[in-house]
Amino acid sequence: MNTFKKIALLTAALIATLPLSAKPKIRIIATGGTIAGISTTSASSAYTAGQVGIQTLLDAVPQILDLADVTGEQLVNIGSQDMNDEVWLKLAKRVNQILNEEDYDGVVITHGTDTMEETAYFLNLTVKSDKPVILAGSMRPSNAIGADGPANLYNAVAAAISPACKGLGVLCCMNNQLLDAKTVIKTHTIDCDTFEGGPSGIIGYIFNGQAHILQTPNNKHTEDSVFDVSHLDKLPKVGIVYGYANASPLPMKAFVDAHFDGIVLAGVGDGNFYKDVFDVAVKAQKQGIQIVRSSRCPTGPTCLNSEVDDSKHHFVASLDLNPQKARVLLMLALTKTHDWEEIQKFFMEY
Ligand code: ASP
Repeated sequence: MNTFKKIALLTAALIATLPLSAKPKIRIIATGGTIAGISTTSASSAYTAGQVGIQTLLDAVPQILDLADVTGEQLVNIGSQDMNDEVWLKLAKRVNQILNEEDYDGVVITHGTDTMEETAYFLNLTVKSDKPVILAGSMRPSNAIGADGPANLYNAVAAAISPACKGLGVLCCMNNQLLDAKTVIKTHTIDCDTFEGGPSGIIGYIFNGQAHILQTPNNKHTEDSVFDVSHLDKLPKVGIVYGYANASPLPMKAFVDAHFDGIVLAGVGDGNFYKDVFDVAVKAQKQGIQIVRSSRCPTGPTCLNSEVDDSKHHFVASLDLNPQKARVLLMLALTKTHDWEEIQKFFMEY
């Protein structure tokens, strides 16, 4: 046999060993939520979140197998109102393992919508990969008329296989839209169209199984993040205190007495305190409990050294982060430093 024939035969043998179409490999981690919820009556408003398992979610949308080689696992099965630090740590470690050790191309996480924005932001700061990590949920339970879960899951897988979604950090995929972890907020208690991006809007959208990206987030995340939870089994304790007219200082005092490591104020306006609460905050900061000022206003930044003299009191201003995300960043910041200026710098970067 001449050399040319030998090469042709060898090439044919090699091609025969390859899979017919190498689809992207996507791992789904299910955590519960309404997407796994079951309605107990014909009215979908009465239901329990976190009832059905990962296989039921996959069976409801067999079309995702056209997009990718999809497999799944159940991490927990809870309403996301019960999300906690322990599950966050487990989830971040598992996502890192899947993307860095198990040769998957992307991860989709099914999650309740109540705290989806917090989990997304936590992962945005702790996942060490530029591969897509997409959170999806639903506003209607799995057996409701017009359940939105299957479409959201299909779209999330479409995003997870898209090269355009690489390097964007963690995204949420809801109602055909892609939203970035830093700015996404749940804005409506019951509507399917509940998630919004910040002032600059959504990151992109999904149409016909294709991700279309409109803009890229400009904050540090994932591979550029300094936060590493791989050796942590708990997080610093940080609570949130809500601001209002004639506010009681008792919640702030309770956190101080319970030796929390940090307290975030969901303040009025530009992160302002009621005077009695302010006095407790000043004392807490002197005791080494880091105070972060954020705002109960749905839009606009909480500015450094504006109405409150942060430099004098060593308070940190949350800038663009709402109270629940400021809490996430403060917990991670406190794993690195207790220097308020360093922590303020993290709030400027992340
Ligand atoms: N309470 C539910 C949850 O967050 C709501 C939802 O998923 O839409 O798990």
